[in-house]
Amino acid sequence: MRACIALLVVMLAWAAPVRADVAEREPRYLILVTIDGFRWEELFRGADPDLVADDRYRARYVDVADRAAALTPFLRSFEQAGVLIGNRDQGSCARVSNDYWFSYPGYAEMLAGRPNPRVRYNAAVPNDDITVLERLQRHGLSVGVFAEWDVMGAILNVKRSAISVVVPPDPDAPHDPQVIEATRSVLNDPPRVLYLALGDTDNRAHEGQYEAYLAAASEADTFLREVWDAYQTNPRTAGRTTMIVTSDHGRGAAEDNRWTGHGSGRWRRIIVPGLRHEGSDAIFIAARGPDIVGTASHTMETCATLAQVAATMLRSVHLHDELAQPDMAPALNVFAEE
Ligand SMILES: [Zn+2]
Repeated sequence: MRACIALLVVMLAWAAPVRADVAEREPRYLILVTIDGFRWEELFRGADPDLVADDRYRARYVDVADRAAALTPFLRSFEQAGVLIGNRDQGSCARVSNDYWFSYPGYAEMLAGRPNPRVRYNAAVPNDDITVLERLQRHGLSVGVFAEWDVMGAILNVKRSAISVVVPPDPDAPHDPQVIEATRSVLNDPPRVLYLALGDTDNRAHEGQYEAYLAAASEADTFLREVWDAYQTNPRTAGRTTMIVTSDHGRGAAEDNRWTGHGSGRWRRIIVPGLRHEGSDAIFIAARGPDIVGTASHTMETCATLAQVAATMLRSVHLHDELAQPDMAPALNVFAEE
């Protein structure tokens, strides 16, 4: 018996470092998702009863026991499976740290790890920052981007970065279904880093179509579950994949239809607070994966920022030490202590 125990101890001592070694060599996979202008209000409260007129939508999203779970059940599952930051009703806080509260400044901030004050437009001007996706691709990781918005090519500076960006072939049809179909084609053999940028939520909201905005959010949520399940049934990616989901900005309040927009923040170089719809800086950030722990909290005092997503992405693929920049915001407080 004593010999047996001694042997067991030897085996354990020998096995432990080997396991750690294997873990380090196991490649991590990353799925980044943005749902353009999807409000934290709908994510955490569900559909706003005052804004839903259509009877079928009321039956599906309003007259139900749990409105939030009825709208985006997969995203809500991050609360148990990972972290879900930004429920301001419970004092959880996430926000953009740029001053503009619209799309390009938000994506620029998220992908560089800090706001870029020179980006104060939505025009397709090539980004002068090097994005975290470009750094990952330069480091040798395969990167695939499927984006609803045709400006994403400029945001990722594809001329310089040579990142593959697929956008909807038919700009006149709803964008997200086209992006979803294109993304499906790579789910069997996914790149190390997949960025899925959905946005019919923002498109329908600007049109004032609240029900269609809800439908776009629901469709996004359903597809994210499909993507996650595909990664979890693929032996190459199962248990090695982190998914991060966020938005580029929030939207205004329900009152006076402020929810349809978010404002432009500035006129030329002048801050015009009235041009921003109050609350549009409020966002959500969701994350789950093998290194993400469920105890993270970001309160109003320690509000998470969109800029922190870049370093969080790097940590999730274990390349933070190699690729993080001195001016990047720190990774979110969502990782197990090392
Ligand atoms: Zn918008």
